[in-house]
Amino acid sequence: MVKEASIMVPFLYGFDHCLDAAHSMLHLTVQHPKLEHLLCVPCVSLQNSNAMRSETPDHAPYEKRVAAILLELGIPASYGSDSGVPLQREATDLLSVGADIYGRDQRLTPEVAARWQAMQAAAAQQGVSLLLVSAFRSVEYQRQIWERKLAAGESVAQILRVSAPPGYSEHHTGRAIDLTASGCDPLTEAFEGTPEFAWLAAHAGTFDFSMPYSRGNRYGFIYEPWHWSANETILGS
Ligand SMILES: [Zn+2]
Repeated sequence: MVKEASIMVPFLYGFDHCLDAAHSMLHLTVQHPKLEHLLCVPCVSLQNSNAMRSETPDHAPYEKRVAAILLELGIPASYGSDSGVPLQREATDLLSVGADIYGRDQRLTPEVAARWQAMQAAAAQQGVSLLLVSAFRSVEYQRQIWERKLAAGESVAQILRVSAPPGYSEHHTGRAIDLTASGCDPLTEAFEGTPEFAWLAAHAGTFDFSMPYSRGNRYGFIYEPWHWSANETILGS
C-alpha cells in the first residue's frame, strides 16, 4: 500500500479548478510531470492521448478501420501477412479524369492522372483507343462490393480470388486503372488479345505504368491483363 501511495501522490494535486479555460467546474486535478499547468483528470487523459496519437504512425487509425471492416466481412485478420498484399493507402488528393465507359466520373491522383492522360493520348495518336473502366475506388466502395457478393452467396475464398479486401485494393491509392478496348467485354482475359493490350505491353512502361497481376502472381489474384498501375517508387507516393 505504501508503495502504491508513493507512486500516486506526486501526480495527485487535489480538487481545484482546472486551468483549461473550457472547464469552470471543480475537478480532481493532477500535476502531470510533462505538463506545466494543473489540469483535470479528463484533460490530462486527453492531452496524453493526443500526445500518443502524434507519436504513433498516422496510418494507425486507417489500419484499425480496415481491420474492423475485415472482421465485419469475415475476412481473416491475417489476410495481409498471409497473402503478401500490402495495405493500400486511400488517396485523398484526387483529380477527375473524365467519364469511364459507363459514364461515371473517375478520379486519380493528380500525378497519375497526368500520366494516364499522356498515355491515352499517345496511344490515340497511333490509332489505339484505351478505354477506362475504373480508377480510384474508396475503401467504403470496396466494402459495398464485398457486401453485395457475400449477399449473393459467394464465399470469402471465392471473392478473394477476384476482389481485394477493403483496404487492400490498389484502386484505393488513386494510381491504378482498369482498361478495356472497344468490342471487348470489360474485366475479362479477352483484353489480352486486343491491339490495345499489345500497345500497353510495348509502351506502358514509358509512362511508368505496369501490370501487377500477371499470370500466377504472388498475391493469389486471378490474371488481370486489364489492371495497370503507376509505379509507386518512381512517383514517390
Ligand atoms: Zn483493377
